[in-house]
Amino acid sequence: MTDRRTELAKNLAAVEERIASACAAVGRERDEVTLIVVTKTYPASDVRLLHELGVRHVAENRDQDAAPKAAACADLNLRWHFVGQLQTNKVRSVASYADVVQSVDRPKLVSALSAAAVRAERELGCLIQVALDAESGRQGERGGVAPDGIEELAAAVAGSPGLRLDGLMTVAPLAGPYAGRQQAAFERLMEFSSSLRAAHPAANMVSAGMSADLEQAVAAGATHVRVGTAVLGVRPRLG
Ligand SMILES: *Cc1c(COP(=O)(O)O)cnc(C)c1O
Repeated sequence: MTDRRTELAKNLAAVEERIASACAAVGRERDEVTLIVVTKTYPASDVRLLHELGVRHVAENRDQDAAPKAAACADLNLRWHFVGQLQTNKVRSVASYADVVQSVDRPKLVSALSAAAVRAERELGCLIQVALDAESGRQGERGGVAPDGIEELAAAVAGSPGLRLDGLMTVAPLAGPYAGRQQAAFERLMEFSSSLRAAHPAANMVSAGMSADLEQAVAAGATHVRVGTAVLGVRPRLG
């Protein structure tokens, strides 16, 4: 074992333990929650080690970094999630390797993703990113649509060739009424998920929770947690 492999194995085991305890605390089965490891800023060699250690879902937030990494790991059985703010000029590239785009937050992005998915002959899973702190008609600081825009976007995704509506994603807001109240924020997201599922029963994915707040996300009912730092270490640069 390389030192890095040992370190990643130890960190993964600790995160696994946290997820298992969080599930047990609220009477959920461990397999109701999927761990997505956010590998942004870390090299393809780490992705390879994580795969050896059993990780099957990874996430990236910048196409410039993700595209070469996904290409370098194309032989691995991995699902790639795109979790960053996405410009339409990057959509064609992202659609070539991503399995799920978690940051769908405006109609223009839906049409661009649909065109790119059709062209690539791939089906792209889409999560609507919800900005719990955004006012009606506005975007969140870190992307995302205001809650009253979810329905329209969901209908657009559901009606677009090449796209599959999978559910909702959020990042706990740093400002506004939910600042510092992660559990309340994630519970609010679950309410939006219930409404969404009434119209789109298959859109049952709820992506919430990161290294600092995965327990609150699991308690609220998240199906997917996105963990970077706790597995890979503190990132060398902002990302
Ligand atoms: C970086 C990132 C994460 C992981 O954050 P950590 O605090 O490192 O666990 C999760 N979600 C998104 C959207 C991110 O950009």
